[in-house]
Amino acid sequence: MKVGDSAGLSDPGRVRRRNEDSFVVAPPLFVVADGMGGAQAGEIASRLAVTAFREYHAADRLEPEARLRAIVQEANRRIHSRASSDPRASGMGTTVTAVLTTGGRAAIAHVGDSRAYRLRDGTLEQLTEDHSLVADLVRSGRLTREEAEIHPQRSVITRALGTDAAVRVDSFSVDLRAGDVILLCSDGLTTMVGDEEVARTLATASGVAAAARSLVQAANEAGGEDNVTVVLFSVEEGDPDDEDTLSGLRLPPEAAAESPLPVAPSVGDGAGRRVSKAFLLVALVLVLFAGLAALALWGLSRAHFVGAAENGRVAVYQGVPWTVAGVDLYREVYVSSLLAVQLGPGERAGLFDHDLSSEAAAIARIRAYELEASLESP
Ligand code: CA
Repeated sequence: MKVGDSAGLSDPGRVRRRNEDSFVVAPPLFVVADGMGGAQAGEIASRLAVTAFREYHAADRLEPEARLRAIVQEANRRIHSRASSDPRASGMGTTVTAVLTTGGRAAIAHVGDSRAYRLRDGTLEQLTEDHSLVADLVRSGRLTREEAEIHPQRSVITRALGTDAAVRVDSFSVDLRAGDVILLCSDGLTTMVGDEEVARTLATASGVAAAARSLVQAANEAGGEDNVTVVLFSVEEGDPDDEDTLSGLRLPPEAAAESPLPVAPSVGDGAGRRVSKAFLLVALVLVLFAGLAALALWGLSRAHFVGAAENGRVAVYQGVPWTVAGVDLYREVYVSSLLAVQLGPGERAGLFDHDLSSEAAAIARIRAYELEASLESP
């Protein structure tokens, strides 16, 4: 078998002003990268990712999967290094889904929620597993696929290039048969167009270029809420002619050029997605706060101190003797018949020290004075 026709198309969609996706169509190599980050950093990240495929040749002699993984790791290093050294690019990241065909097989390397599909005999099979919050929830049985499709956090990815010094890359290989069509796409397609419609479009289009146009059009007609990128190739009978040419790879100039960082960052772009690291951080902070809140509630329920009620009577309070933002962190649990004025200055100082103790111990301290007061009373 060999790679037949191929096509790539990217569109900003109907909502975003910028296009943060990048792609490569250079048989036997195909790549889709979906960048994210403030201002134009998402474009830089996805561009750095595809540029690594052109420039990095240290892995040329490796087996296809290992080779793709090495390039993805190099891309991660470049993006992370740029994000760490340039404040305007801080936190940027990108997905990457790359396919390299050799000897009747397709090696695939993948990070994030861009996808690879294979259409065979009219059936569309998703080859990659999304590294996303909702995909994790579906895998653990906490969300159905239908719920995941409309989940408000469906764009939150849990793995990306560039957000950490190290990245875990999925890689695997699938066989190719004459008649297969391989699709790589960013989530701007899959969040807008269902798998059934994608399959129908691929099966009925007259060629991959027409199919690419139809898919982008379908995403835009469904709302075009995100940048949409589609890379397609068909598989034909025949000897592979120009395979294994990654070392001499010539990318189209627009994909090969590394765009400089913008001088005047635009406002409002790149807000639709959050980087996995940011998500993890928020989750961590939430867990930490929940833990602290639980600890605080537990502590408040156990802590008691002696004070004076408004009517001048000695009382026991549950909680801590603080008022935070107008909210009292204590409540009255016991009011004595003993009046604060019945105590001498030294006694008051000792009793009202606000030391925390159990309710029983706090009441016991008051009882001692109650007894004393009752004995002193005529
Ligand atoms: Ca996207």
